[in-house]
Amino acid sequence: MPGTNLTREEAAERARLLSVSSYEVELDLTTGPDTFASTSVVRFSAQPGSATFADLVAPSVEEIVLNGRALDPAAVYADSRIALDGLETDNELKVRATCAYSHTGEGLHRFVDPVDGGVSLYTQFEVPDARRVFADFEQPDLKATFRFTVTAPQDWELFSNSPTPRPEPLGDGRAVWRFAPTERISTYITALVAGDYHVVRDTYTGPDGTAVPMAVAARKSLAEFLDAEEILDVTKKGFDYFQQLFDLPYPFPKYDQLFVPEYNAGAMENAGCVTFREDYIFRSKVTEAAYERRAETILHELAHMWFGDLVTMEWWNDLWLNESFATYASVRCQVHATRWSGAWTTFANVEKTWAYAQDQLPSTHPIVAEIRDLEDVYVNFDGITYAKGASVLKQLVAYVGDDAFVSGLRTYFRRHAWGNTRLSDLLGALEEASGRDLGAWSKSWLETAGPNTLRPVFTLDDSGAYSSFTITQEAPADYPTLRPHRVAVGLYDRKPEGLVRTHRIELDVDGASTAVPELVGVAQPDLVLLNDDDLSYARIRFDERSVATLVESIGDFAESLPRALSWVATWDMVRNAELPARDYVALVISGAQRESDIGVLQSLQRQVKAAIELYAAPAWREEGAAKWAAFAHSQLLAAHPGSDVQLAWARALAAVARSTEHLDLLSGLLAGTQQIDGLVVDTELRWTLLHRLAATGRAPEGQITAEEERDPTAAGKRHAASARAAIPTVEAKAAAWASMVDSDELPNETLMAVVLGFRQADQRDLLAPYADKYFAKVADLWATRTPHMAQLLVNGLYPSLIVEQRIVDAVDTALAQDPTRVPAPLRRLLLEQRDGTQRTLRGEALDAAARG
Ligand SMILES: [Zn+2]
Repeated sequence: MPGTNLTREEAAERARLLSVSSYEVELDLTTGPDTFASTSVVRFSAQPGSATFADLVAPSVEEIVLNGRALDPAAVYADSRIALDGLETDNELKVRATCAYSHTGEGLHRFVDPVDGGVSLYTQFEVPDARRVFADFEQPDLKATFRFTVTAPQDWELFSNSPTPRPEPLGDGRAVWRFAPTERISTYITALVAGDYHVVRDTYTGPDGTAVPMAVAARKSLAEFLDAEEILDVTKKGFDYFQQLFDLPYPFPKYDQLFVPEYNAGAMENAGCVTFREDYIFRSKVTEAAYERRAETILHELAHMWFGDLVTMEWWNDLWLNESFATYASVRCQVHATRWSGAWTTFANVEKTWAYAQDQLPSTHPIVAEIRDLEDVYVNFDGITYAKGASVLKQLVAYVGDDAFVSGLRTYFRRHAWGNTRLSDLLGALEEASGRDLGAWSKSWLETAGPNTLRPVFTLDDSGAYSSFTITQEAPADYPTLRPHRVAVGLYDRKPEGLVRTHRIELDVDGASTAVPELVGVAQPDLVLLNDDDLSYARIRFDERSVATLVESIGDFAESLPRALSWVATWDMVRNAELPARDYVALVISGAQRESDIGVLQSLQRQVKAAIELYAAPAWREEGAAKWAAFAHSQLLAAHPGSDVQLAWARALAAVARSTEHLDLLSGLLAGTQQIDGLVVDTELRWTLLHRLAATGRAPEGQITAEEERDPTAAGKRHAASARAAIPTVEAKAAAWASMVDSDELPNETLMAVVLGFRQADQRDLLAPYADKYFAKVADLWATRTPHMAQLLVNGLYPSLIVEQRIVDAVDTALAQDPTRVPAPLRRLLLEQRDGTQRTLRGEALDAAARG
């Protein structure tokens, strides 16, 4: 029984049989709050006499007509498929159905604003969810033109891939929007956004005078917070940069960016109609790091207009190429065309940390992943697909040279515009441009899994100079590939102006051991940094003297990138039980005050919290948390009034506050009886403070309700639900659990908020009974929830705070069930979580041994 799955073989067979020319999709959004009417007319050619199927996920199907022949829906529609046989050379399929709005962010999501009753609808179709809105052939290589005709309340704003037409009133409060046909695109990047939106319009004018109409929109109740000018400014810089880099004009007739509620991902590259999560509209003060990441997302989606939308992967096994390219191109654009010229530091801090962590999981896979079916794709939007792929692409640019890379890319876009490609098409274009054979490179970097680890090994002569220096390379036992790495080695010494690089050597590291004769005779520096400048994708380790230097002086680096690389490596050491959690906390305390990059500082704050909660010896946890909270408090008081650093420390303190002194401070800030100069206790910070007070038993239900009345927005309601789930009582935990597990009523974003509230590190006793409940329920949750919701629950409710061998054993028992109860994607998630528990067990043991 196929259910809602689709295998690669089925897709390939269908692409062999069919060529789709056009869709005419009519949607009526005025038929009710739960469902809408959908009519899809698909014109396609086929091999005469052949049979295939169309896709549709709908509560009911009223009419199916193939080439004028009425088919009985009861006979041909099952398991989300419409069986089609007796195909002719040219075919017309008409399907009239009643489709359902979703509350899970998949298909056509419907949201009602609690502030003004305004309705927001948006589509999210990646991976296979256009079929929840209209009957189609749901696979990326069956491109077609799409003509949408939509009936909706006449005062709504509508957006789709084509420019919004003038609505035609029907005289009864409704109107019809007839969108012009699109170019030939894939189903997963078609889109519709409709409802009570506030819109800001603008035009991008390129150097050659061509104009692209643009719009930015958000719910009306967020209008006052929508900083459209900044968003449009970043977008225009992206247009300038990408059009020049790709030497190809923007391929679509307009560019709309829509900030939509209850959105699962960061954003989605629908052709000319990009959707973003609403958290990117800042209704309270955020740090510069949030603006930087938003710009990264804006530029990532814009890059997809060429790479992904104009030229599209044939099947989901090349999802990585799509995502890696957009990630790489976005950071490159940030560095060259925006105020975030240090974006490679953020890339090292965020993307590479993600990639190294993902690459050490038992589920790690080659960048070029085997994607057998849709279920494989759902769980593959991971750190390999986005972050390792982007790291390796960056390295490929260094390998073939920037000029050859750009020239190959331009050829690739021209050659394959409006078509579908495989990895070999891009590599072929790069080989032509560079004259280099990329076969070996592809084999070692794209077709094998697991990270390499580089270590310095040396001897010293009597004068303290190196008498030998080698770089060793290791690989995990399960993924033993050693690779060629182009790396820089940096030698750093303490100077009055800080920790300064005195030598830089660039070389090729290959095999298990690579000698570095250039360093023989050079005096041992205070610190040796392998993979300096972050040229390669490799975990690094330090010698003893370098570790000592870091502990005393990590804050003294004159540049942000080597400091970030050192932070990334030391966090990786904590996660691998090579550095005790308490030493890491001490390291961060020594260096954090001089960390100049706000994004890096905020990562460190999160990592220290995780180090204490997950990797510290249980006997030291309280002490560690108290030490960290005291430090956060001191930094909060010392920070420049009104600065990002001040806000970051206020949040960090609120995340861990436990003592009466600190909780009194949170209460006082919330009540307004205490102030810190320059710290504005705005809406979001109020919820952060209240959440912690609720989690520590200091904010009763009544106080949460009062705050909800003060902030009666959708975000306020989610924060309140999260705070209620955090209350440290048996009853509150039971209620939260029931709302998540026994019911499927919570919309996606609220479910996420309750998961986060439920999981409190200092409530292990209250949470312990839920470990068994989790394992009793996990297979049912997987079987009965949509892919996104199931994944959220399986990962979010896993008892990661119960650091005991019995949890590892419980996973093993769960995995030993009938395989139909634990299909491959669920197995993958459970194995990843099990690995997390084993890491925390090892980390705790190391930290316990380090005591004293
Ligand atoms: Zn993307």
